[in-house]
Amino acid sequence: MSALHFQTIAALADQLAEKKLSAKELTQAVLARTKATEPRVHAFNFFDEADALFGAVASDTRRAAGLALGPLDGIPLGLKDVIAVKDQPLTASSKMLANFVSPYDATVTTKLKAAGAVLHGRLNCDEFAMGSSTENSATGPTANPWDLARVPGGSSGGSAAALAAGSAIATLGSDTGGSIRQPAAFCGVVGLKPTYGLVSRFGLIAYASSLDQIGPFARTVEDAAIVLNAIAGHDERDSTSFRTAIPDYRAELAKRRGPWKLGIPREYFGEGLDPEIGAAVERAVAFYQSQGCEIREVSLPHTQYCLDTYYIIATAEASSNLARYDGIRYGHRSKNAKDVVDLYFQSRAEGFGAEVKRRIILGTYVLSSGYYDAFYLRAQKVRTLIRQDFLNAYKEVDALITPTSPIPAFKLGEKSDPLAMYLCDIYTIGVNLAGLPAISVPCGFTKSQLPIGVQLIGQPFQEANLLAIAQAYERGHEWSTKNPNL
Ligand code: GLN
Repeated sequence: MSALHFQTIAALADQLAEKKLSAKELTQAVLARTKATEPRVHAFNFFDEADALFGAVASDTRRAAGLALGPLDGIPLGLKDVIAVKDQPLTASSKMLANFVSPYDATVTTKLKAAGAVLHGRLNCDEFAMGSSTENSATGPTANPWDLARVPGGSSGGSAAALAAGSAIATLGSDTGGSIRQPAAFCGVVGLKPTYGLVSRFGLIAYASSLDQIGPFARTVEDAAIVLNAIAGHDERDSTSFRTAIPDYRAELAKRRGPWKLGIPREYFGEGLDPEIGAAVERAVAFYQSQGCEIREVSLPHTQYCLDTYYIIATAEASSNLARYDGIRYGHRSKNAKDVVDLYFQSRAEGFGAEVKRRIILGTYVLSSGYYDAFYLRAQKVRTLIRQDFLNAYKEVDALITPTSPIPAFKLGEKSDPLAMYLCDIYTIGVNLAGLPAISVPCGFTKSQLPIGVQLIGQPFQEANLLAIAQAYERGHEWSTKNPNL
């Protein structure tokens, strides 16, 4: 049996229920692991030992009192540092919010607290979730636990790296253009981006509001289902959250057995795809075929416009969302300003990093009078075509199968050109533009022992099917039992 810090929620919940293990022992083990690995990994912006142990002891007290407890009770979970936890730092890995303490809980936080989870820290990310490597962080980059010279992916790199390192049993991230799935692939863990509207965004620091979704990183598909059970559902404080019946995703796993029809979008296997990743995904396709699934080639003809469309819409929304950081109400305030207008300029100039500034400038430009129609409005129309491509494909197939990322984890500092970094998102951003659910599942390693992820893209609000399809692959392989040597 693997060390406590590498076990699944499902396995640990059983041991807690049978009283073979206490939440305090488990939390101590995870904190010890965190302290041992953090100097090399830097997955956390902040963790609070005393608070975590307090939460663990409270869980043990509930259990001793004989209360009926769910599977997350007493389990140490980490949250990306864009998700609010009352009375704790919330920084978005930005100097702008370096001293900000959240006055309230995000809805997902409220729900995880109600489920008894031990929230032991805030995880590093690209500043305001803008990036694909976690190098755009004011607290410094996170390292990939599989190879400390490489990035963990981004923007939720801390969430993926903490889990892979054994410094959390599961984590939450946010995915605007791949920020859960790509780091999950780079770090060899499962990452689920839910359908837009399934999980409340209340208390999530906004990057691009029409694309952002919170979702879980977990060791297994079953664990992802357990976390999704806790966080999904309508929330009147998020007007885009959907009213839909929420199934028990974990229970549904056993009921949905296929065989399924899977589509291979030909546009996702072209130029720029690393051959080792292409081969691993082809082996995954062959596995599904061997299980009786029907495989069809499909076309998503507007794929070539995804990157441009995304970087217009996401930056436009970001420029609007980040206008609130003005140095007046909260966040960094410059000490060098001459007058109030200068205060806005100086505070923003000092508080934001280079990538955030680049996006605000680009977003302001595409929204400005004279350019709005040519860029923003046109991008919205193309977005509709991109969504239509997916919905057309779903007339023929249940889900799509693609690589998660065209390349494996790259070296820290290797991609200094922003465009080269944006190209990392080509297989993930279409999903956000279309509002669909998608999951990245480990599907092997490159010759140099870097994890590879396969992406499964589902139909809107059909997470139960998507998870079952993903688990069918996972159960036929041992990738998810592998851990890095740290
Ligand atoms: N890498 C993409 C970006 O920089 C996606 C980020 C995300 O999903 N938060 O915008």
